[in-house]
Amino acid sequence: MTTRSETRTTLDHLLTEIEHRNPAQPEFHQAAHEVLETLAPVVAARPEYAEPGLIERLVEPERQVLFRVPWQDDKGRVHVNRGFRVEFNSALGPYKGGLRFHPSVNLGVIKFLGFEQIFKNALTGLGIGGGKGGSDFDPHGRSDAEVMRFCQSFMTELHRHIGEHTDVPAGDIGVGGREIGYLFGQYRRITNRWEAGVLTGKGQGWGGSLIRPEATGYGNVLFAAAMLRERGEDLEGQTAVVSGSGNVAIYTIEKLAALGANAVTCSDSSGYVVDEKGVDVELLKQVKEVERGRVDTYAERRGSSARFVPGGSVWDVPADLALPSATQNELDESAAATLVRNGVKAVSEGANMPATPEAVHLLQKAGVAFGPGKAANAGGVAVSALEMAQNHARTSWTAAKVEEELADIMNNIHTTCHETAERYDAPGDYVTGANIAGFERVADAMLAQGVI
Ligand code: GLU
Repeated sequence: MTTRSETRTTLDHLLTEIEHRNPAQPEFHQAAHEVLETLAPVVAARPEYAEPGLIERLVEPERQVLFRVPWQDDKGRVHVNRGFRVEFNSALGPYKGGLRFHPSVNLGVIKFLGFEQIFKNALTGLGIGGGKGGSDFDPHGRSDAEVMRFCQSFMTELHRHIGEHTDVPAGDIGVGGREIGYLFGQYRRITNRWEAGVLTGKGQGWGGSLIRPEATGYGNVLFAAAMLRERGEDLEGQTAVVSGSGNVAIYTIEKLAALGANAVTCSDSSGYVVDEKGVDVELLKQVKEVERGRVDTYAERRGSSARFVPGGSVWDVPADLALPSATQNELDESAAATLVRNGVKAVSEGANMPATPEAVHLLQKAGVAFGPGKAANAGGVAVSALEMAQNHARTSWTAAKVEEELADIMNNIHTTCHETAERYDAPGDYVTGANIAGFERVADAMLAQGVI
């Protein structure tokens, strides 16, 4: 039998190999390190996982699609963006994962997101594989008509690679209800099919699920609550710092308030807002979702309880809980040190990989409960899978039913991660628990299905 340290050496070699084969993809390297570094105990304990080629297959996407997306702005000028869809792993079900439209998007970013998605989706237990896509298109400052033309051009190529049984995209940063609408319309036009299950995050009345917009944020708060419960505490009366001001942040703030906690911040790339009375979520929705404005406008309208801090770090604001809900690597080691100094009890990732490896290490060492995104923010994709189920059955569930399912799923994910961590001698380590539990499900399916 191989020992844990021999296994660790093998995994380290594999990581070096991954860096070699995928140059200039730092985010993908980071995501691969984060997972592989925690797998030694399970690979050493279960010889079938050490089978040559298993992990090598897992880190290589099944298919990667790169395409040109030409579109015309309102003045008739032609722009050329790059489109991506990485179909990473379909051992458990059709590829599933969002589309991100943001200027920072490149192949390495999409691969990191797709890789995370494999394990996240496995943790939901809902039979969905992992994928991710997007474009370096920047929707900020673009008119609705420009966004529509971009989405139509994007789908004109993407449609041939997706389908309700093949690959089911959804939203992510820069892709919300408006974009899903334009994408769905173009898919329907090209294919001449009402194939509701080809995209999730659709609008009410044309196949969308109630609670899908809320699901990522609500789910993350439920995960944080479960971590606190494990330590004999609850959310009541806790103060929270939340970063971001998009869909995830908004519904995180909303759920925190509903459960008796107080979210005192939100942010965007221009700076952050501190609101002593707690962020007024209806005003934030109006500014961000209706007017597509910035958080400084929120502070201006809110009055004396709120102040806008240009630049700066939202993690400087003292709080019991931190829920990073903006983007990758937004919470670094020094921010983590500040949080610890200010007495933070739990950090739960609403965004994908928002905490750097150094930050995670520091938080865990300080005894802070840390919920990794692939577990804590899985509520979004879980309700996407419930949307697929409703589409397939041509039915729609009540909000109460979806919320109940979401709560069960988040509690199950928490229990699975917690128990798996204990089983592999890492009590309280949700990173190890999430990675090993997600890995076991995908690896078992891959082994059963042969070398493909
Ligand atoms: N983009 C979300 C995530 O990171 C949701 C994906 C989906 O609903 O398919 O999990």
